Amino acid sequence: MNSRIHYTKPSITEKEVEYATDAARNGWGERCYEYIHRFEVFFKQHLGVNYAIATSSCTGALHMGLAALGIGPGDEVILADTNWIASAAPITYLGANPVFVDILPDTWCLDPQHVRAAITPQTKAIIAVHLYGNLCEMDELLAIGEQHGIPVIEDAAEAIGSIYHGKRAGSIGKFGTFSFHGTKTLTTGEGGMFVTNDADLYEHVLTLSNHGRAKGQARQFWPDMIGFKYKMSNIQAAIGCAQIERIDDLIAAKRQIFSNYKTHLSGLPVSLNPEPTGTVNGCWMPSIVVENGVAFDREQLLATFRADNIDGRVFFWPLSMLPMFDSKPENKVSYQIFNRAINLPSYHDLTAPEIERVAQHVRAYLGA
Ligand SMILES: *Cc1c(COP(=O)(O)O)cnc(C)c1O
Repeated sequence: MNSRIHYTKPSITEKEVEYATDAARNGWGERCYEYIHRFEVFFKQHLGVNYAIATSSCTGALHMGLAALGIGPGDEVILADTNWIASAAPITYLGANPVFVDILPDTWCLDPQHVRAAITPQTKAIIAVHLYGNLCEMDELLAIGEQHGIPVIEDAAEAIGSIYHGKRAGSIGKFGTFSFHGTKTLTTGEGGMFVTNDADLYEHVLTLSNHGRAKGQARQFWPDMIGFKYKMSNIQAAIGCAQIERIDDLIAAKRQIFSNYKTHLSGLPVSLNPEPTGTVNGCWMPSIVVENGVAFDREQLLATFRADNIDGRVFFWPLSMLPMFDSKPENKVSYQIFNRAINLPSYHDLTAPEIERVAQHVRAYLGA
């Protein structure tokens, strides 16, 4: 049996172990926020934003951000149909309705034309999810948002390392959110981050994140509103501090893996994650989409992976296909692409020969 090739895996060095150990030994009492605050500062610097709040998940960061924007029952929030449920679930927590629109065939992200067409008087936000590290058409989305007075939010959970015309993903919209789940480029096991340049929004989310206790409130145990409990622990933040110190290397490694795949898959009738001029793709998840007209069965290809001890994954289903939402087969690209695409393994310890081994299966399957 060939060695196991995982789907994703974190990159943990002595530095992460050292910081986490220090947090476990010493990070209590007066020092119980030290790594959290340090992580927030480093993350802000990396991203180039004014404010950051560490959270227990990206889902929680999105929930608080949407709540702070006043989104509630009957409101609509537009996002792409092709997505992970975590981007849509917080909308429903607030009693609002996700409005799923189709994606562009080349970026696999929101199609601005469909966004424009989906706007109603109930629309309260647009969530731009940078899928698999691919960037949304932010200029067009921001223009639509501005025209209608609707904030554009970035779910940048998959896009650490992605840069849109000089600005890092997550730093461009009204607010941005990140995930540090174990599968992501930067991990704390579980965790997330809320970022913004808007001082008022920051204060509001900070209060919400502290069970509604405002920063200036002198009375102890006195919440001024109902808030949330989505905090990151100091031990998780310690791991985050080590990861953010290594962020350039972590991103570079993911980009190198993608570049190797690209070389080995050249000439095949597939498209990979795009990197349009003026942008950088953080390459969280190398994925292939097989051209229309070419015979392809994703389950068959994944089965050949499994037979060789390789873990590949299916491309996201359209969320509107799930039983809790109304189906929207008019989202033609979303309803076609998932059957014609898969995610390829990508993590920092993946070796060049292992990448070649994966690529060889794709080549063989496609008869090349
Ligand atoms: C991973 C992911 C999330 C969820 O992050 P959690 O930290 O698990 O809540 C949200 N959105 C996108 C796009 C993701 O990839």
